[in-house]
Amino acid sequence: NQNKELFPVVHWFPGHMAKATRMIQEHIKKVDVVIELLDARIPRSSANPVMIDTIGNKPHIIILNKADLADPMMTKQWIEFFKSKQLSVLAMDSKVGNGKKQLIKLVETLSEPIMNRWVQKGIRPRSVRTIILGIPNVGKSTLINQLAGSGATRTANKPGHTRGQQWVKIGKNLELLDTPGVLWPKLEDQRAAARLAMTGSISDDVYDLESVIQQLIETILTIHPQSLIERYKLKEEQLIDAPSIIEHIGRRRGCLVSGGIVDIDKARRIILTDYRSGKLGAMTLDRVDEERYYVED
Ligand code: GDP
Repeated sequence: NQNKELFPVVHWFPGHMAKATRMIQEHIKKVDVVIELLDARIPRSSANPVMIDTIGNKPHIIILNKADLADPMMTKQWIEFFKSKQLSVLAMDSKVGNGKKQLIKLVETLSEPIMNRWVQKGIRPRSVRTIILGIPNVGKSTLINQLAGSGATRTANKPGHTRGQQWVKIGKNLELLDTPGVLWPKLEDQRAAARLAMTGSISDDVYDLESVIQQLIETILTIHPQSLIERYKLKEEQLIDAPSIIEHIGRRRGCLVSGGIVDIDKARRIILTDYRSGKLGAMTLDRVDEERYYVED
């Protein structure tokens, strides 16, 4: 089933994408620095294809979020990759707030030349403004809440601010829009789409579980087969192919229906949940050397 469409139901229609692009362009006009969240397990697959065109030449920070769920060696490689593209990049775990201070410092550093330009032009200095963008579920709200945490001052409804939107003070002369910009995921690329499903970045009703699990297990067999042996107490000789692995795991976990037959669907969901929550270990699915990245296209 290699060529099977994974997404017969796609939630992002061209009209929605065009509208999202317009909204993001509107938001971007109001900010000086853009923060884009990527999933550290899939830095390429979780990137939005039109992001670079949309933000123009504003300073752009890439956050590899959920770094706690990614392979640290691979995260290092991705950081080098983005740096080689002259992008500012930082790995974070927004759930616990790791990397928060470095992020604020990075935005402040990028803000300095902007503020200097204002001074030179005789423009009255104001706070530097920033926005967080990313596909659904990448951790945008979690990060905003971390940054806006204790001590943050909300500055809604000040002159020059759109009603209903709030700017949160997050550092020296630094404000963050408290509404994140939602980018659409790369569903037209089947490999990216499968990985977005594996990591839980797209809702469970729009992909084919069977095919996604098949690909997830094949990937794990390539990059970290030991995790299956350890987590499910399998023997090495049981790692034959995805269907037999699912069957063994189902049996181990007691996912049985009458007659001792394995409830394959239940076993599949266990594997998926375990991968997503990091119980199969920190595993990165996108490799730097796999293919060219969209910024080079
Ligand atoms: P949003 O849709 O981009 O706003 O994503 P959310 O902030 O709602 O986060 C989606 C899920 O990812 C939630 O269950 C968060 O707890 C979780 N999450 C966010 N950041 C991290 C992180 O850095 N590490 C881990 N392990 N989970 C995270």
